Amino acid sequence: MTKTIGFLKETAKGEQRVALVPETVQKILDVGWQVLMEPDAGEMAGFPNSAYPEMMQLAKRREDVLHGADVLVGVHALDAADVAELRDDAVVIGMVSPYTNQQRFVDAAAKGKTVFSMELIPRTTRAQAMDVLSSQASVAGYKAVLLAATEAPRFFPMLTTAAGTIRPASVLVIGAGVAGLQAMATAKRLGANVTGYDVRPETIEQVKSLGAKFLDLGVEAVGEGGYARALTDEEKQQQQDNLKKHLSSVDVLITTAAVPGRPAPRIITADMVKQMKPGSVIVDLGAEGGGNCEPTEAGVNKVVDGVRVIGPENLSATVALHASEMYARNVWNLLSLMNNEGEFELNWEDDILAGCAVTRGGEVVHPAVKDALEAHQGGES
Ligand code: NAD
Repeated sequence: MTKTIGFLKETAKGEQRVALVPETVQKILDVGWQVLMEPDAGEMAGFPNSAYPEMMQLAKRREDVLHGADVLVGVHALDAADVAELRDDAVVIGMVSPYTNQQRFVDAAAKGKTVFSMELIPRTTRAQAMDVLSSQASVAGYKAVLLAATEAPRFFPMLTTAAGTIRPASVLVIGAGVAGLQAMATAKRLGANVTGYDVRPETIEQVKSLGAKFLDLGVEAVGEGGYARALTDEEKQQQQDNLKKHLSSVDVLITTAAVPGRPAPRIITADMVKQMKPGSVIVDLGAEGGGNCEPTEAGVNKVVDGVRVIGPENLSATVALHASEMYARNVWNLLSLMNNEGEFELNWEDDILAGCAVTRGGEVVHPAVKDALEAHQGGES
C-alpha cells in the first residue's frame, strides 16, 4: 500500500524551518510514496505552497495531515496534541529532544507510535549524510558570528582609510566542534584575528587549517566516541585561570562548548566577564543548555559590566531556507533507509534505524531515554 509522508507547519516559538523542502518532496514522490503537507508549512522558510510539486497533496487543514499520514516528519514533531491525532501505528521522525521530558515518549509508545530521533542518529561515517547535529550546528556557528558582528561596536576586518587605520577585531571561539569551526571560518572570512580553543587535542590541526591560532590552556579532556568529557574541578580551575589572562585582549567571544547529554559546561564566570574590555561582545551558543558563560540568559541580549552578552535560542531557525534544505536532506537520507524498492520497511537490523529509535512496538527502547526515565522514577519514589 502506498505510504503517505506528512509534514506540518512548525509551531514552536521562533521556528521558521520546515521539515521537507520541494526538492526532497520530489524525491519521496519518485519512490512512489505520497506526500501530504499542511498549507503554508514552508512559507516562513521561503517555500510557498506553489514551490512544491503539484503531484503532492496539499491538505485543507492540519488535522487532515495528522489523520492521513503514515509517517509524520517534523523539525520538532512531538507535540502531544498532534500525536493524539495520529494513526495508532504511525511513525514519527524529527528532532524530538530526547534528553528532555521523556514522559512524552512513554505516552507516544502507549499509543503505538514508533518515534525516531534525528538527534540520536549514530555519528558514524555511514550516517554522516543524516547528521542533523552537524548540519544545524554549522548554521548556528555561522549565524553566531554575524550576530556578533552586528552587535559589536567595531569592524571585524583591518581597514586602512584616510581617517586612520583600524585594527582587526580579535575573536576567540571556545569549542572547536562543528559550530565552533564554522564560527572560526566565518570570522576569518570577515577579516578578524581568530583564535580557537577546545579540550580535544585533535582540534589543534582543525583550528590551524582554518588559518586561526590555537589557544593552549593545558587542559585535555577526551571522552567517549571522540567527544569531550566533563572537566574535573581542578581542570576547570586551571582552564579558567589560564583563560582569564587571554580574555582582556578579546573583542568578541563565541562559546560553543558542549558535552552530549549534559548541561553546557560553565567556562566563563561573571568575574571573568568583568575583566573583558567594555564594548566587547559574547555570543553564547550554549545558552539553551544553561550557558557556557555565567551571565547568559537564554533568549536575552543584555549588557553586563559593559560587555554585551547574547544567549540566542534556536539560532539555526533564523537561517531558515538553507537550514531547512540541509535538514530535509538529512531526513530524506534517513527515509531512504526505510525504502525497500518502493515498500516502506523498518529494517531493525540496520544500526542507524535501531540506533535512533526512541520507541518501538509500544515500548521506549533507546537506552539513553530509558535511563533518564528510570532515574526520574527513582527520584520520585
Ligand atoms: P559538541 O556540540 O558536543 O561540542 C562542541 C565542542 O565543545 C566540542 O568540540 C567539544 O570538544 C568542546 N568542549 C566540550 N567541553 C569543553 C570545555 N570544557 N572547554 C572547551 N571545549 C569544550 O560537538 P560536535 O560539534 O557535535 O562534535 C564534536 C565531535 O564529533 C568532533 O570530534 C566531530 O568531528 C565529531 N563528529 C563526528 C561526526 C561523524 O562521524 N558522523 C559528525 C559530526 C561530528
